[in-house]
Amino acid sequence: MEPENFMTRPAVSRKLTPGGLRQRGFGLLVDTREALDTVIVGGGIIGAALFHELADRGARVCLIEQDRVGLGTTAWSGGIVRCYHDDPVLVERAIQGLTFFRSFAEQTGTRAEFIETGFLYIPHPSRHEQARSLTDRIAQSFPAQLLSSSDLDRKFGHLLSGPAEYAVWEPHAGYLDATQVTRALVRSAVRKGGRLLEGVRVDGLNRVEGRVRGVRGSTGVIAADAVVLAVGAHTPRLLDSWGISHDVWAQAIQVELRGVDSPPTDHPAYMDDVCSINGRPDPDSAGMLLGHPTGHRIDGAIERTAIDPDQSELAVTAGRRRFSWVEGSVSLGGFRAAECYAPEGRGRVAWVPEEAGLMLATGFNGGGFKLAPWAAGQAARLLAG
Ligand SMILES: Cc1cc2nc3c(=O)[nH]c(=O)nc-3n(C[C@H](O)[C@H](O)[C@H](O)COP(=O)(O)OP(=O)(O)OC[C@H]3O[C@@H](n4cnc5c(N)ncnc54)[C@H](O)[C@@H]3O)c2cc1C
Repeated sequence: MEPENFMTRPAVSRKLTPGGLRQRGFGLLVDTREALDTVIVGGGIIGAALFHELADRGARVCLIEQDRVGLGTTAWSGGIVRCYHDDPVLVERAIQGLTFFRSFAEQTGTRAEFIETGFLYIPHPSRHEQARSLTDRIAQSFPAQLLSSSDLDRKFGHLLSGPAEYAVWEPHAGYLDATQVTRALVRSAVRKGGRLLEGVRVDGLNRVEGRVRGVRGSTGVIAADAVVLAVGAHTPRLLDSWGISHDVWAQAIQVELRGVDSPPTDHPAYMDDVCSINGRPDPDSAGMLLGHPTGHRIDGAIERTAIDPDQSELAVTAGRRRFSWVEGSVSLGGFRAAECYAPEGRGRVAWVPEEAGLMLATGFNGGGFKLAPWAAGQAARLLAG
């Protein structure tokens, strides 16, 4: 039976510091007085949002990240936050996200700039009735409007290559810097009493009497009542290595950076289900982000690589069908990173069956940034029983 300590690796040297913390031989400051309620593994946006939520609720929580926080898939995220999804469940979850991110300073006590570009969604024409009712729902929380073909032409005709039947317009949507937000959440959680361990890799689960009671990290055992795995695209490989069956997979997402001669100053963030493209302006490069689904599942090693030129060509071909600026634009490179996908496509925030004490918070299928506030609330509710 493992002692119920924060970290139970045998001490090499112990010195009591003024704060009541013990300095150990390997250089970490660890509190040996009390057990943790929850260990979160993975310091991306999902782990960071949950870390903040639990610390805010007064839980004894520790976030463990093998690298520095915010440098996984989250570092490549467009950080777009909008409400419209072709799924009423995701609309409700995304409304929570937009509410949180638009009042970030109030919610966390730290700042992260919200850049309001608005969001233009072009649904499939066959979804007109659904788009109307979902837009009405969003409009109860944030301004949202269904634009007719002529409205669309009047407002965005200078950006479009041809007519579209209708679109959804959310003027209050926009984006944030995903890494900055992640670090801000972690900073706020630490101020509220959460413990952060960076540069510590989790290799195994600490099982006590048939229940998960913490993790085995590269610096020893970290005991806790529950473990939340928020390791994004690393999830399938980690679960495989622990012999836990699952149905999630890692998949590549690629977004192009396109240089345009005269970048439009009023371009919204966008998603188009007819041409299968998405993106937003990128002020850092003065270019435009243009994504197109890859469908590439990744086995084994996590892919965070150079962009695939064949995929770039597919994206540009698809983009040309919708936006006039794509024609004549040039490649400024892009981003390619892996994301965890789950069959339900809504995010998997749930206890792992047959592994009491272990929860998954992953499977966001390319939309986890905006859903992180929902995911954090949901995980906290499950942890509270
Ligand atoms: C190019 C791109 C653009 C995107 N754009 C958007 C967007 O505009 N809006 C949106 O809502 N979503 C977007 N997404 C999706 C969103 O970025 C992801 O859903 C989200 O970042 C996933 O966060 P995460 O915390 O699950 O994973 P990650 O950010 O990958 O975090 C997981 C962390 O776990 C750590 N870890 C892994 N294994 C271990 C271990 N054994 N021990 C300790 N730590 C470990 C990793 O180092 C990593 O830091 C985009 C994704 C990509 C790739």
